[in-house]
Order: sequence, then structure tokens, then C-alpha cells
Amino acid sequence: MGRRRAREVSEAEERRRVDRWETGRRHASAGPAGAEFAVLPGQRRPLVPPPADAILAFKTHLDHVAGLAAAGLEGEHEPTLPTWTPDTPWIDAACGACRGACCAEGRTNHAFLTVATLNELRLSGHPDGALGPAELVADILARIPSEHVEGSCLFHGSTGCTLPRHRRGQMCNRYYCGPMKTADRRAVESGSDRLVVVGLTRTVSLGPGGGRVVAHASDGTDDELVAIGLASAAGFEPISPSAVGSTT
Ligand code: SF4
Ligand code: SF4
Repeated sequence: MGRRRAREVSEAEERRRVDRWETGRRHASAGPAGAEFAVLPGQRRPLVPPPADAILAFKTHLDHVAGLAAAGLEGEHEPTLPTWTPDTPWIDAACGACRGACCAEGRTNHAFLTVATLNELRLSGHPDGALGPAELVADILARIPSEHVEGSCLFHGSTGCTLPRHRRGQMCNRYYCGPMKTADRRAVESGSDRLVVVGLTRTVSLGPGGGRVVAHASDGTDDELVAIGLASAAGFEPISPSAVGSTT
């Protein structure tokens, strides 16, 4: 990419970031006056039966990594794990409102079930760590829901991840997206123990020439509102979008 093109892309990204923030701020005006807000991703793709070819590819991967872990070997492709840990009480509620936009990455990454993850389970002292590779594979496959979020991880079910925490990939238990980190920093700085969470998504498809086409939201912006509510240690309390205030 030439320098001029790179600058145009970067300026477009900055405009998009500002637009998105402004859309989020406008929606957040439906919350309590003066409350901190977070603009997070969100998803609302339909539930569909998991494709048979995706299950087969996942089983092939799982057989491989379970075999390596049982032999006490290390994996070939372990991702670098995030080290950031949040300390705010509303994080789980906010991720629940987002409905797992980041779990789309679990589709191409085999639910992040790697040799290191299975070795961690084996050494954890949890009874599941004593399962042999064939039993472990069968047990994990049995947790694929009959319907999952279209295009997302095979375990991304109607109410979230169908794997128990101790069975999830190390990445799944440690990852938080950039907007979540920004929201956490803002909450810590302001001393908030609850946040108005605004979940926004974009519907992007490929146009005739292969370019990306954004389906505009009903209010004319690029980002469609998929969730709005108050997140705190007590959970997520939805706010009626109809209460959204003026754009000023
Ligand atoms: S980390 Fe970000 S993308 Fe993932 S569920 Fe939480 S808010 Fe959504
Ligand atoms: S295993 Fe669960 S947490 Fe991990 S990507 Fe899949 S649905 Fe998300």
C-alpha cells in the first residue's frame, strides 16, 4: 500500500471510530444522567445447525491436539496469550450483553482448544484432566449445541458458550477486546461500579466488485444498536432503546 493510500485508510478509520463513538454516546443518553458509558461490539446473527464439515474439521484438530497432550508433548501453534486482567465488577454482564462478538474468532481457531489448554486441564487436578484422549474428544464434541450462532465458534450457543469455563481455551478465558479495555480504563478513572453499555454492530457484505458494503442502520448511521443497558456486579439491566434522547 502506498503512503497516500495508507494515510487515506487511516483517516477513514479515525472518522469511523469517532462516528461510532458519537453513535454510542447518543444511544447512552437513554441511561441515567451523567453515567459513564461503554461502546462495545455486539452480534445478533441467527442460530443455525453447526455445519457437518466444520464439525469434522474440528474433530480432526481435536484428535491431533488431544493425542499430543496425552503424550506429554507441546503444541506447534500456540497463540500468544493476553496478560491484561480486568478488575471491574461489570465485565461479565457487559460481555453477556455483547453476546460474544469475539467468539467468531473461535470458528477458524478451533475454539482455541490447543495442546497447552489440554495440558493445563490435565495438570489442574480437575477430574476431567484424567480423561484419556478418546474420552476427552468424545466429551468435548458432545458439548457442541444443536444450534449455534451462524459463522461463529461451534460452541457459541443461544445463551453463550456451551463449554464449562475449565474446558475452554486459555485464550477464551483471558481475552478481552480493545473496546472493553477502553471501557474498563474509563470506569476505573471515574470510579464507576456500573456502566451504560451500548452494543453496536455493523452489517458488512461484499459488493459486486468485491468491495465492502455497509448496510446502514435504521437511523442512518453505520452502526446498528444491538444492546443497551446498565451493567454492574448484579448483572445486566436492559434500558429501553425507545428512551434514547436527542442527538445533541
Ligand atoms: S470481549 Fe469484547 S467482543 Fe468479546 S464478548 Fe466481551 S465485549 Fe464482546
Ligand atoms: S469456546 Fe466458547 S468462549 Fe471460546 S470462542 Fe468458542 S464460544 Fe467463545
